[in-house]
Amino acid sequence: CGIVGYIGTEDAKEILLKGLEKLEYRGYDSAGIAVRNNEGVHVFKEKGRIEDLRQIVDKHVHATAGIGHTRWATHGIPSKENAHPHQSASGRFTLVHNGVIENYTLLQKEYLADVALKSDTDTEIIVQLVEKFANEGLNTAEAFRKTLTLLKGSYALALLDEQDPDTIYVAKNKSPLLVGVGDTFNVIASDAMAMLQVTDQFVELMDKEMVIVTAAKVTIQNLAGETIARDPYTAEIDA
Ligand code: GLU
Repeated sequence: CGIVGYIGTEDAKEILLKGLEKLEYRGYDSAGIAVRNNEGVHVFKEKGRIEDLRQIVDKHVHATAGIGHTRWATHGIPSKENAHPHQSASGRFTLVHNGVIENYTLLQKEYLADVALKSDTDTEIIVQLVEKFANEGLNTAEAFRKTLTLLKGSYALALLDEQDPDTIYVAKNKSPLLVGVGDTFNVIASDAMAMLQVTDQFVELMDKEMVIVTAAKVTIQNLAGETIARDPYTAEIDA
């Protein structure tokens, strides 16, 4: 399973699909991407191979930001509904996740009793929590941070907010995730190999860090909201 993301100036969907192909070796049962343009966020997902996903991605949707995912099902059978990305009730937030949220049932009972869920995944709880806290008045970074402090388990996460189209929100705990940096873009990936197609400069992330990624900037924070400085390294892997 794996995660990729791109925000910059190029067409995101091909970069995401190529990135997901590079992560195929990790194993998966379904795959999906979400891309964002002026019309909003467009989600394409399918059970099966990246090839099958490629067939259903609308070639006419031009977008310069997006996130992608290959799923290894842990909660909910492999199906189109359970494939990632997952969206919040209103559709405002879109999320991909690798890992397992151990307390998702408890969180659902405590915070989301009135939300009709669209999938059987632990992941959907995360995106629904972000929307709930945003609806209560928090900005997206705050709502995401509050959600992260409630999660028990492992996660690599990438989140899109339809109302904040220039940002990808990222977090990691006990699942691999890197940020890749470029001159006019930034990317994320579970493995540098997925994004060597566009950069060899990567920033390592530590557990319980949250990252705000725009085309121009990468801001790493801890869960107290304090900014952390970290230089990129050059990935030396044969592509
Ligand atoms: N637990 C999530 C699910 O079953 C994510 C699985 C993964 O890491 O791909 O959808």
